[in-house]
Amino acid sequence: MLKITDLHASINGKEILKGINLVVKPGEVHAIMGPNGSGKSTLSAVLTGNPAYEVTHGSVEFYGKDLLALSPEDRSHEGLFLSFQYPVEIPGVSMVNFMRTAVNEQRKYRGLEPLSASDFLKLMREKRAIVELDNKLASRSVNEGFSGGEKKRNEIFQMAMLEPRLSILDETDSGLDIDALRIVAGGVNKLKSEKNATIVITHYQRLLDYIAPDFVHVLYKGRIVKSGGSELALELEERGYDWIKKELGEI
Ligand code: ADP
Ligand code: MG
Ligand code: MG
Repeated sequence: MLKITDLHASINGKEILKGINLVVKPGEVHAIMGPNGSGKSTLSAVLTGNPAYEVTHGSVEFYGKDLLALSPEDRSHEGLFLSFQYPVEIPGVSMVNFMRTAVNEQRKYRGLEPLSASDFLKLMREKRAIVELDNKLASRSVNEGFSGGEKKRNEIFQMAMLEPRLSILDETDSGLDIDALRIVAGGVNKLKSEKNATIVITHYQRLLDYIAPDFVHVLYKGRIVKSGGSELALELEERGYDWIKKELGEI
């Protein structure tokens, strides 16, 4: 599904990613952890095509296509979904209209007819139930005046609507109380299938109590310096990152 090979990326001439290698297959959940400033958000920004970042070396294949050659819109149409660490507000655009446009643009890209109004509302209802998103929120402007928890829940709702092949959740747990965390994680788990995959980026182990990852990677100073199973996340929670720095001979 996703194959990242020796990926290097810079912002304002400063190299942040220094040779990332990662393979993700359908059905897998990968967690990317690491101290603040390691490049986790940079990696998700590069994968979704944020133009502020310059890829200086390496390649990213998504179902055999050169992902880096696609526009951000086409990456999304191909089935890549990114949840932002800081979701944007879009005043004046209701969630319903925003989602109808997004869903129908994706259908058009795939050669499908737009959904009828009634089929669209049926889809909305079905997906809203997965994340327990209130109907009132769905009729309001995108994220405007939403609490942190509501924004995150809304993101998982958008993810449910678009049925992505690969979802990248960047710090989806930041700003969530324990109930919202459960709902968001529960939504991710309900959407999990043999056909899709998820990359969960998180600074803390907390979210991984609910979303069990198959693989855990430690990103540090722009490189994946350690990979393991879910036990690695627990070890990081217990011991912090210093033992990894020791292994690298830094301290
Ligand atoms: P993480 O998500 O792991 O906390 P980031 O990817 O946000 O890390 O940041 C990685 C590094 O890139 C940090 O040193 C950060 O200061 C730097 N960085 C991120 N965005 C910018 C930017 N717009 N301009 C300059 N440096 C940046
Ligand atoms: Mg950060
Ligand atoms: Mg970040």
